[in-house]
Amino acid sequence: MSNFYITTSIPYVNSEPHIGFGMEILMADVLARYMRQYKTPVIFSTGTDEHGGKIAEKAAEAKITPKEYADKVSQSFRDLLPLLNISNDRFIRTTDPAHEQRAQLIWKNLSQYIYKSTYSGWYCVGHEEYFPEQVVKANNGVCPEHNRPYEQLKEDNYFFKLSAFTPKVKEAIDTGRLQIVPQSRKNEILSLINGGLEDISVSRPKDKIGWGIGVPGDDSQVMYVWFEALMNYITGLGYPEHQDFKQFWPANVQVIGKDILRFHAAIWPAMLLGLGVELPRLLYVHGFITVDNKKISKTLGNVISPKQIVEKYGVDTFRYFFLRHIPSYEDGDFSWDRLEAAYNNELADQLGNAVSRTAAMVSKYQKGIIGDIPAAEHDIGPYRQALEACRFDRALDEVWEQVKGLNQYVDEEKPWELAKAGDEDHLREVLAYLVGALLEIAELLQPFMPTTSDKIQEIFGSGILKEIPGSLFPKHEPQPAT
Ligand SMILES: [Zn+2]
Repeated sequence: MSNFYITTSIPYVNSEPHIGFGMEILMADVLARYMRQYKTPVIFSTGTDEHGGKIAEKAAEAKITPKEYADKVSQSFRDLLPLLNISNDRFIRTTDPAHEQRAQLIWKNLSQYIYKSTYSGWYCVGHEEYFPEQVVKANNGVCPEHNRPYEQLKEDNYFFKLSAFTPKVKEAIDTGRLQIVPQSRKNEILSLINGGLEDISVSRPKDKIGWGIGVPGDDSQVMYVWFEALMNYITGLGYPEHQDFKQFWPANVQVIGKDILRFHAAIWPAMLLGLGVELPRLLYVHGFITVDNKKISKTLGNVISPKQIVEKYGVDTFRYFFLRHIPSYEDGDFSWDRLEAAYNNELADQLGNAVSRTAAMVSKYQKGIIGDIPAAEHDIGPYRQALEACRFDRALDEVWEQVKGLNQYVDEEKPWELAKAGDEDHLREVLAYLVGALLEIAELLQPFMPTTSDKIQEIFGSGILKEIPGSLFPKHEPQPAT
């Protein structure tokens, strides 16, 4: 079986992790776990993006060095991994010496497409991005997101000949050699590309932004942070000579947010084409999360950390909510009420209940002996198709049809009446069927809710019931009004 390489974007270390990145890394985690279930060798990589003027600025405010600042915030992303039970194999930092060296090598290998010129235009250091005149005018010279004036730049920069790659990038996307899902994002990038791609500035003068990777052969310039950050996807595998690169590239799936589509669907493929390296197979673009239907912002004070949710509800509830209740192909909304409703109605009443009533009946009627467990007969094709198209929400819908079906089956078969009537054979069959169905559900839930899945396996998997204290998802009683 072929190898599987999956990446998340690498978040910029200018702020602590929020639920949006929590969801992104979960999505990648589900696919990595799913592939490992089928014994495919997997490399799952995430990390942090650490250079640029904004980091230098933040560090100066905190009176520490940029590296010290990056160390601190990078660690907060690292802490997210065990919190959300993420099974990543790699964690790359763009300040890793290996990344820095390989980024310089990539620059050299792209040198025929890099030329020096003068950039004159606008830059937002909050974004670490160049902006065209029209955007700056439309916003009256002030970046609305960062509430600071765009800087007017006129400086010597190196440029990457992005324009030269326009037809090839377009062709790769059109033909599906580089797949982009959902379709809406594919359309968006194609219309951008059809408008023509201009060459991009890929360096800044060192005297303006000192915190970056040096441009090979030119001490006065550092690489533009975005340009070298994208390279992490191959430097992390040891481009060009390492076995991992040879065996795991091209990436099977790259998971990103919709705000960085242009970087990943236009600039990144052009860089790879310039290097003569294969393009990733699939770019999956998730949407944004609002909180109570409002954009998440520090000013509104509605920033929620993944930790707050996990501490109150447990990691699998976090995983379940963001994978099922945020639409995989669109934007979605978080609210504590919706989370509470999903917890009580779906995890406690449906899944938790199916597990606990089955266990209780096996214990009561058969002294914990399950006997022969029939293999489940459900068609898991739709589940697999959904997962392979990064429709995490639909894959979980499929699992939940089975969970609901199982509770219905209990209500219809009424095992307690079979017990009363002394119909032991039929009772044993019914209970064994229930257990078989639960074990299948556990298997399907493995990538999504590994802890819950393991517990269901532990309770029923051996053929003899193992009673564990408490229920998987104890129902929350309504709080008295205050
Ligand atoms: Zn900005």
